[in-house]
Amino acid sequence: MMQTDTTAPGVQTWETIGEDLARRENDRRDVMREMRFDTIAVHGIYDAQAALANQGSINEPLFLSPAQHFVESDQMECALAYRMPSWTYTRIANPTVHYLEETLALLETYGSEVRASACGTASGMAAVFMATEPFLSMDDSLPPPNIVASAKCYGGTFMLFSERYGRERGVEIRWVCDPLDPDEWASKVDPGTRFVYGEMPSNPALAVFDIPVIAELAHAAGVPLIVDPTVATPALLRPLAMGADVVVHSLSKSMAGSGLAIGGALIARHDIPSRIGADGLHADFATHVKLLPFRDHGPAMSPFNALMTLADVRTVRSRIDAWSRGAMTVASFLETHPRVETVRYPGLASFPGYGIARRDLWLADGDERGNPVNRYGPLLSFDVRGGDQAARAVFDRLELILRATDLGRIKSVATIPAISTHQQQGEAGRELGGVPSNQIRLSIGGEDPTDLIADLERALA
Ligand SMILES: *Cc1c(COP(=O)(O)O)cnc(C)c1O
Repeated sequence: MMQTDTTAPGVQTWETIGEDLARRENDRRDVMREMRFDTIAVHGIYDAQAALANQGSINEPLFLSPAQHFVESDQMECALAYRMPSWTYTRIANPTVHYLEETLALLETYGSEVRASACGTASGMAAVFMATEPFLSMDDSLPPPNIVASAKCYGGTFMLFSERYGRERGVEIRWVCDPLDPDEWASKVDPGTRFVYGEMPSNPALAVFDIPVIAELAHAAGVPLIVDPTVATPALLRPLAMGADVVVHSLSKSMAGSGLAIGGALIARHDIPSRIGADGLHADFATHVKLLPFRDHGPAMSPFNALMTLADVRTVRSRIDAWSRGAMTVASFLETHPRVETVRYPGLASFPGYGIARRDLWLADGDERGNPVNRYGPLLSFDVRGGDQAARAVFDRLELILRATDLGRIKSVATIPAISTHQQQGEAGRELGGVPSNQIRLSIGGEDPTDLIADLERALA
């Protein structure tokens, strides 16, 4: 997956060349692990030497070619046996996607001793699928499979679990209705459980849960905890350092905040617990997924989208800082508005999970003086007094804030989850997930909060 020297190998075998390449890349990771968050986000592992190997390009080159040319048959054989770093074919690996994966693995383990690998995917849902499906394979020595998941999750995830895994494949889905209650999680985990899953903060309820406590509970049962921290980004929350085993991201959101790409990623620590799967699955789950199930299912990320994402990831910390401050200002405004029934924002003292949010959501490397500061992300939701028609009327009067099923954008966007992202799970599913029909979800972007508040004030009047 790295630049290979295309001159003849001389006396060295391709395997030895491969070992050198792998060692150099590992050295590069070690160098970057010592750097600060923004430096990692800006450079990843693409250093001056990599630039010179790419005609001096200061940015990671875009490899749109589906396939790699090999010097000779020996190299081809070695590469296709996964015995040397190479990329071979974009469905499995691609140099541009690889640079993004390495950056993500570094950011998700920032400030910790955890070692992780990443696998870029075509979308966030492809990441959720690839991070969960390998744990559901048949094993007659185990009881019938179940999964334990927070019901406060993204609509697509809810449908994947309940329809694809539950209804179509007979996996029992045990929804946790109150993710703040560790006893509810504990009561649902048993010898049939294959993994435990939660979103933090969740979309759109902003629900939080105690990652270290739930990780311990999962590990005691010998199963992995999988966390979707899309709404927080690694700039605010790095679950792997808190005990989670696998992280899934929709990179389509804040990570690619300009809104020019769709993509996802799964990032997994090395040596994860699991009741099923080959040794490779435990040792390096992300690489196992990439080389085997991902290769066969085909949800590869487009290199073009990887490049668009890389360009935005460089600024993720400063953007999330600014958007979070804007969201806090807007949430505080909405909380005092008479037409607003409830505001859900992890930064409000009135928020049910405020204690955990304040404990866990910190801006990486703190403020400009390096002082630790809480930041709570760009997403909030609020319920409009007067029911769903009143909520629609407010929503339809927005002029600056755009109406879209989208979040984590440089442009502020709003949606009504009950008629969009969470429509297909139905009334009962929304009840479980805490998605009332008069709820507006708001994602705050880079505009001046004064103008956003003026827009909301006009719409609510
Ligand atoms: C949007 C979203 C997803 C799905 O991501 P796509 O890139 O749209 O497939 C998963 N989880 C969360 C929390 C999301 O907001």
